[in-house]
Amino acid sequence: YQIEMSQLTALEELGKGQYGTVRRVRHEPTGVEMAMKEIRLELDKSKLDGIIMELDVLHKSTSPFIVDFYGAFFVESTVYYCMEYMDAGSLDKLEAADGLPEAVLARTVWCVVKGLMFLKEELSIIHRDVKPTNILVNTKGEVKLCDFGVSGQLEKSLAKTNIGCQPYMAPERITPSTNSTYTVASDVWSLGLSIVEMGLGRYPYANESSVFAQITAIVQNDPPKLPEDKFSAECRDFVARCLDKVPTRRPTYRQLLRHPWLARFENPDGEGAK
Ligand code: ADP
Repeated sequence: YQIEMSQLTALEELGKGQYGTVRRVRHEPTGVEMAMKEIRLELDKSKLDGIIMELDVLHKSTSPFIVDFYGAFFVESTVYYCMEYMDAGSLDKLEAADGLPEAVLARTVWCVVKGLMFLKEELSIIHRDVKPTNILVNTKGEVKLCDFGVSGQLEKSLAKTNIGCQPYMAPERITPSTNSTYTVASDVWSLGLSIVEMGLGRYPYANESSVFAQITAIVQNDPPKLPEDKFSAECRDFVARCLDKVPTRRPTYRQLLRHPWLARFENPDGEGAK
């Protein structure tokens, strides 16, 4: 079932992305409210067709930890990506001034790890852009990932125009060695950094004076931590394992789910289980 622009009624703007706005829309034939992300690209029709085709794999399998994909189309050279509307927005906006309480943080992280593992195992996708703005929440209490690198062509096109900062990147992404393919370990770093950000209520390298200084700090400094007086030893250990500067020492998603900080969510009788 193909969504078309003529079937959509524009509602309010939800946010501004790097490549265009995200708005809430109503799909009139079904009455479903969606979030429509605009991605302005300068590509020819065959490349745009390729992107729409690659996005199609998202129709094949779904997860409660991934924002549902409804369809994508393009008008001129702008791609419109229609997805599940998450009515509580992204995690960066929920971060209270002094960060999320640990209980909320733990369940959020459990959902994110489940989502990342689903992408890896079911779709062979590495997210590549794990950060609080890409973790969405709704008032049902669901936590889901969005903005993952599903289309190679789309990623390539975005990379060309995106020379901006990526301050969630792992140290090995900044100073790549010979073996510099992107692996899940780099996403595990970004997850660790996002946990510290959500716990503190601010980006962990925010004190650095420039993006250059932030990137230098990622490579040279000890990894950031959560304060001992507010976070449990399990939580701090979980973060430290994700933020190991040696990528091969970082845990797999399976190991993260077995970690004492998250294991209770895996137990069907445990709190937070679905
Ligand atoms: P970019 O990654 O290009 O910066 P985002 O995907 O972060 O763009 O979108 C910008 C903002 O739009 C987000 O911070 C979020 O608040 C909002 N947004 C994106 N997707 C949704 C969605 N599915 N439901 C509700 N709000 C969304």
